[in-house]
Amino acid sequence: MQYRKLGNTDLSVSRLSYGASPLGSVFRNISEEEGIRTVHTAVDMGVNLIDVSPYYGQTVAETVLGKALKSIPRDKYILSTKAGRYGADFQDFDFSAKRIRSSLEESLGRLGVDGVDILFLHDIEFANLKQIFDESLPCLQALKDEGKVKHIGVTGYPIKIFDKTIENFDIDCILTYCRYALYDTSLEPLLPKLQDKGVGVINASPTGMGLLTQRGAPPWHPGKPELLDAAKKAVELCNKANVDITELALQFAIDHDTIASTLVGTANPVNIQKNIEWAEKPLNVELAQEVRALFNNIDVTWPSGHPENQD
Ligand code: NAD
Repeated sequence: MQYRKLGNTDLSVSRLSYGASPLGSVFRNISEEEGIRTVHTAVDMGVNLIDVSPYYGQTVAETVLGKALKSIPRDKYILSTKAGRYGADFQDFDFSAKRIRSSLEESLGRLGVDGVDILFLHDIEFANLKQIFDESLPCLQALKDEGKVKHIGVTGYPIKIFDKTIENFDIDCILTYCRYALYDTSLEPLLPKLQDKGVGVINASPTGMGLLTQRGAPPWHPGKPELLDAAKKAVELCNKANVDITELALQFAIDHDTIASTLVGTANPVNIQKNIEWAEKPLNVELAQEVRALFNNIDVTWPSGHPENQD
C-alpha cells in the first residue's frame, strides 16, 4: 500500500481507504460478521483511513464499525466521522453548534473511541452557508482547540461549496464524492487551489456509488437515466475486454497525485481484498479512454442541496 500526506496535516493516509457506509446496509442488507471481517481485512492489508457518519444506516454503520474497531489497536487507523446530516430530507440536517457537539459525543460512544482524527460537516450544500461559516465551522475549530478532534473539514457534492469554504475558513481537508471518477472529472479545476492552500483532498465513490460495478447503481441513485444507461454500456464494454469495470474505476480514481486518498465502500471481505490488490496494478489507459468517451455529451451530474449551493 502506498501512503500520501493529507494536505498540510501530519496525517499520512493510504492511497486507497475504507468508506464504511455499506456497514449501514445502504446498498444491500449486509451480514454484520462479514462487514466486520471486511474492516479487519482492509486494515490488515494496509488501509489506514476509515470514514463513517451517523447518517449511514441511521447510526448502524457507526455501531457496526465500533464492533470491528474493538480488536484493532487505535494507532493502526485514522478515523473520520461527520456531523450535521442525519437523514435524506432537508429537515434531517442540523448544523447548529449544540447538535454538532452532541453528535460527536454520540459518535464516539458508538465507535468506542476517545476521539476522531477528522470531523467533517456532512453535505453542507443542504445548509445555509452563512450558518456554516458563522456557527458550524467555528464550532469545529473550537473542538479542535479543545483537543476533541484533530482535524476539521467539510463534505458535499457540488464543487462550488468547497471553493466558497476555503475562501472563508481555514480547514484541513475536504471530502468530495462522485466528482473524480471515470464518468466525471469535474473536481479537477479546483485541485490546484486546494493544493496551494494546503487543503487535503479525500475523494469518495470511485465507482460513482455503484454505477461502475457489475451489480450497477442502487435504486436510490440520483443519476439521470442517460447516465445510468451509459454506465451499463461501460460495464458491457469492460466485460468484452475481460476487465472488471470496478478495477478500472478504482485505478482511474487513485491515479491523481493531488488526491491524497480514495474512499471505496464495501461490506464484502473478498471485494475489499480485490480492491486493494487492484490498486497496486497500473491503469489500462486505452480502455479507460474508451469508457470515458461513453460519458461525453451527457449530463453526468444531479442536483443536491439548496439551489444557490449548486454548481
Ligand atoms: P463507491 O463508489 O465506493 O461504491 C460502493 C459500491 O461499490 C457498493 O455497492 C459496493 O458493494 C460496490 N463495490 C465495492 N467494491 C467492489 C468490488 N470489488 N466489486 C464489486 N462491487 C464493489 O461508493 P460509496 O460507498 O458511496 O463511497 C465510498 C465511501 O465514501 C462511503 O462509504 C463513505 O464513507 C464516503 N462517502 C462520503 C460522502 C459524503 O461525505 N457526502 C458521499 C459518498 C461517499
